[in-house]
Amino acid sequence: MNGQMMQLPLLISSLIVHAERHHGQQVVVSRRVEGDIHRETYRELGARARRLAKALAALGVGDSDRVATLAWNGYRHMELYYAASGSGAILHTINPRLHPDQIEYIAGHAEDRVLCFDLTFLPLVQAVAGRCPTIRHYVAMTDRAHMPASTTIPNLLCYEDLIESQDDRYTWPVLDENQASSLCYTSGTTGNPKGVLYSHRSTLLHTYGGALPDALNCGSADCILPVVPMFHVNAWGLPYMACMVGAKLVFPGPGLDGKSLYELFEAEQVTLSAGVPTVWQGLLAHVDAHGLKFSSMKRTVIGGSACPPAMLRKFGDEYGVQVIQGWGMTEMSPLGTVGTLKLKHLGLDREQRYRVMEHQGRVIYGVDMKIVSQDDLHGPELPWDGEHAGDLLVRGPWIASRYFKDEGGDPLVDGWFPTGDVARIDADGYMQITDRSKDVIKSGGEWIGSIDIENIAMGHPEVAMAACIAAKHPKWDERPLLVVVRKPGSELTRAQLLAYFEGKIAKWWTPDDVVFVESIPIGATGKMQKNRLREQFRDYRLPTA
Ligand code: AMP
Repeated sequence: MNGQMMQLPLLISSLIVHAERHHGQQVVVSRRVEGDIHRETYRELGARARRLAKALAALGVGDSDRVATLAWNGYRHMELYYAASGSGAILHTINPRLHPDQIEYIAGHAEDRVLCFDLTFLPLVQAVAGRCPTIRHYVAMTDRAHMPASTTIPNLLCYEDLIESQDDRYTWPVLDENQASSLCYTSGTTGNPKGVLYSHRSTLLHTYGGALPDALNCGSADCILPVVPMFHVNAWGLPYMACMVGAKLVFPGPGLDGKSLYELFEAEQVTLSAGVPTVWQGLLAHVDAHGLKFSSMKRTVIGGSACPPAMLRKFGDEYGVQVIQGWGMTEMSPLGTVGTLKLKHLGLDREQRYRVMEHQGRVIYGVDMKIVSQDDLHGPELPWDGEHAGDLLVRGPWIASRYFKDEGGDPLVDGWFPTGDVARIDADGYMQITDRSKDVIKSGGEWIGSIDIENIAMGHPEVAMAACIAAKHPKWDERPLLVVVRKPGSELTRAQLLAYFEGKIAKWWTPDDVVFVESIPIGATGKMQKNRLREQFRDYRLPTA
């Protein structure tokens, strides 16, 4: 016998409809690329998203067509989140920090139809425009007064003109909740970047799960400032959660330095924020240097890379801000675990509580996890004793089952997604990342593909073998270190090899240092044993510029 409840699909458009109807006066504040602060209510944002949905349709954007963005966190980007996904198209957020060649690859692979971009990225878009044959329309996310006087982009459209061209009489279509809503590429694994294709259903379930008190704890009395970019796993879902709970939203635009962020936190009385550790270092340096305090901030979610234990304590002890560590990945929408305390921990002293919170956290409902031996991912689950470390596998309705266009084949292991992280889990279910089995470097919360770097190094006529590994860095958490075997007789220097990278790779991907060695360990399958290299260079001190 079936239940007799209404069959309403879980759709992204329902979030903005709810925010408009029930929190219509709540505001979304944005620092704009144009330099000023913009305010609009959810009612205005919803109406503009409907006008934009009509404008996209008028441009020929149809069901499941990809609408790409290269944009900061701001209200126009949020309007696109709802206009594109809500109308049945797929929002494809592109990371502007990637090299133009990678952007060209991603836009082509995704078969983007429209590309909307903030003016900051005009030079980048000009560099790729001629190389992206699938893109039919380019839209500058600004008003007529700020449109570039001259550009090489053909028929550049103005965002505000598009909005002006339509009225807001539009009804969001009733889609199948399993329809694709958004697409995000990750370079977190080997080879080319791979697309993770979210659905309306997965997004809505993630929004419910992520807003819970033991997760990001979002409520209508909150003022949320997502520092984590909207091009990085949908700003961890906060633009959706804010609409679900009716919270005030504050978008920092391009102003991600400590001073700009602090000013916005105070001016808008932000209560909850989220971002990678590097951002908080900048903010803490600014408040420390000027003897400032946070007058409204209660909680901040730190994830994307391990939160340094000292940061946890500094925020808590000196500024009265609770740090919640979160762990997840693009393939997980991204939330997996959150480091909130259980009832049993409340009686502990402060230091013992911090020790629990240093873990990456425990799963939120909707996610399950297990650890297995690195040698046999199909093998039995390892015990949750806080000691055994193994490869971390996850599953749940907001976790990817494959990559866009089946790139890389079936990633699942017996129905579980292998995260590429190595972890321990304790008896209370708190997970701690101890290492990574995937071969990548995470610098300031953004991926650097070691394979690309190795391929370039191997292209140098005097390099016999090259391995790129992550080395610890005080500011960026990790930076690339290149370990090189020279060809016999070669006197190649560090400076010569680093100069060879110029123009071939985004500048911030260039290795921080090069070490020349006699040999690189090779495993039974003929692959370089980078885990042994990582071990060898565990305490390597990179030169600090
Ligand atoms: P991304 O797909 O870019 O969000 O990156 C996901 C990866 O970042 C994870 O698989 C981890 O390797 C790493 N990561 C994310 N959050 C944390 C955290 N709190 N601590 C340590 N590593 C993390």
